[in-house]
Amino acid sequence: MASGVPYVNRMVRIDLTTGKITKSVLDPETTRKFVGGYGIGIKLLYDEVPPETVRPFDPENKIIFQAAPLNGTKYPGSGIVHVSTLGPLTDLMTSAQSNGYFGARMRHVGYETIILEGVAPEWSILVIRDDGIEIRPAGKYLGMGTWQLQDELEAEIGGKYQSTACIGPAGENLIHYAAIECDHGHVIATNGPGAVMGSKKLKAIIISTEHNSVDTWADDFVQARKDALDAASASGLGNMVKRVGTLGYFDNLPPRAGVPTKNYSTNVYDYEQFSMENREQWLDKTRTTCWACPWAHTGVVKITKGKAKGFVAEEPEFEPLAGFTTNMGNDDMGEGIRLCYICEDLGFDGKEMSFVVSLVIECFEKGLLTLEDTGGLELTWGNTEAVDQLLQDIAHRRGFGGKLFGGVKKICEMIGGEALNFGVYSGRGIAPNVVDERMTPMAYYNLTLSETGSFGGFSGPDPEVGNNEPLDPTNFAQIGWYLGGNNTKWLLMDVYGSCFFYSAGKMGPVVHFINLVTGWDMDNEEMLTVGERVKSLARAYNIRAGLTKERELAVSPRFSQPPVDGPTAGVVTKLWDLDVFENFYKRNGWDVATSKPLPETLKKLGLEYVIPDIWKD
Ligand code: SF4
Repeated sequence: MASGVPYVNRMVRIDLTTGKITKSVLDPETTRKFVGGYGIGIKLLYDEVPPETVRPFDPENKIIFQAAPLNGTKYPGSGIVHVSTLGPLTDLMTSAQSNGYFGARMRHVGYETIILEGVAPEWSILVIRDDGIEIRPAGKYLGMGTWQLQDELEAEIGGKYQSTACIGPAGENLIHYAAIECDHGHVIATNGPGAVMGSKKLKAIIISTEHNSVDTWADDFVQARKDALDAASASGLGNMVKRVGTLGYFDNLPPRAGVPTKNYSTNVYDYEQFSMENREQWLDKTRTTCWACPWAHTGVVKITKGKAKGFVAEEPEFEPLAGFTTNMGNDDMGEGIRLCYICEDLGFDGKEMSFVVSLVIECFEKGLLTLEDTGGLELTWGNTEAVDQLLQDIAHRRGFGGKLFGGVKKICEMIGGEALNFGVYSGRGIAPNVVDERMTPMAYYNLTLSETGSFGGFSGPDPEVGNNEPLDPTNFAQIGWYLGGNNTKWLLMDVYGSCFFYSAGKMGPVVHFINLVTGWDMDNEEMLTVGERVKSLARAYNIRAGLTKERELAVSPRFSQPPVDGPTAGVVTKLWDLDVFENFYKRNGWDVATSKPLPETLKKLGLEYVIPDIWKD
């Protein structure tokens, strides 16, 4: 039987302008309808930040740090935290998360929701302890990189168990793709949450608590944890992450066509440089982990050869490392790791930054940018010193780098001409994950139709969502229809409060554990309805913020162009197809002409109050 602290959604609202702190509890009915994470985050954002009148850097914008039922329990990987805000890269909703400890520590210190409002009168740090919340001047921490900041702040604040979320110079200087960095190497990245935090003059939040658990480790939790671990280990993805971490994508992305290379201009790179066998010669690794994670797939590495020999850093995930190696034409893996470290230290979203770097290099190589334009920076493929300087200049808004604050789409528009054909971005105006999503049409729509601008789910058969037949990869109507089901299950992984790698398999073990924590009696069907509710509410919010069907369809030419060489050249011959979009809308109960959730869909999901907001005519 369940035991320990029952799940209620305890909220604290911090007005940074006045210093006023208000505590409350979210009503149980709303909590069950939205569960946690992305779900409660978008519900609060929808109700409290009207995107028709508020801009991302306005004091009226809010940042919502949101935990979820699994957070802080012994469920594996349950340290994840979710952030919702109105983001500056797209002017649409931000919904982003990081692993680590922050979500667990929020629950340990006593809050499932932290809402940040207003703008601090001076640069500040928020200290959250068991016995109170304090706003301190940021003082000596201003301008500091995120690695040093976390070390120094944690030493200063002390306490038994800590977790920090902070911004670097990129966030301070309102770079539209600035991230919030958590717990040494975990990043709340997509759509500029770090810039919104910077606009509020908040350099860091640190939690310091004497508590380390929200459950008492009863027998049924032990069995449920074991079931969840078994289910996760049995999946191909889980098995890879457990053994070799996400760098295994260099070996496994089928069939090596998913490694992004030179701004998607080619799919040919020196595979041997990045093979597992070669990686082991480059890196001396000590494993580290996140809250309640036995897999410990992260680690600290020492580089053993190449220009960066002797450099010690957190091992990057596949995406940033691909960003600073293959995607910028660099074969020196040690230099790639060094640039990942700098990128996180300055406080950038590595995904957007990777495609900013690869775009300007391609423009330089093809004569669209000159040395005069770049202030003397030789932005050639593989030039890691020039990219190091570029990152510093962007973060501090200096010289040529100072013009690159707006992300890939805005840079294409600034350079103009052929650059408009080189940029890699979705219709929302956001670069994809640093994977070549064009490896299959089913993967391509993962980003193209993602409400959050980050992972949105792959189209494929899955009986849990009613996709029972095999998928025909040339049937675009079926791809759209299936993705409409798949991505409901996919977004729920951002609602539960656990690392994606432990919730990407079957829903049953996860839903069972949530019932143990909450005392609910949910089944998979009710949880899928939660997913549909969250998805339609997020779409309605984005419609209010200016998203249209036409904008969603306007994926950049380079992103929509099938691979020109490499393993899938001639195999993948078409990516963009209107049938995918329209069948996706139909499956979700959205209007095919406008992509708006239909009134009957909103009523069915208990979202009647949304109807007048988006169906004014
Ligand atoms: S699998 Fe990796 S990212 Fe996920 S919780 Fe474990 S160490 Fe963290």
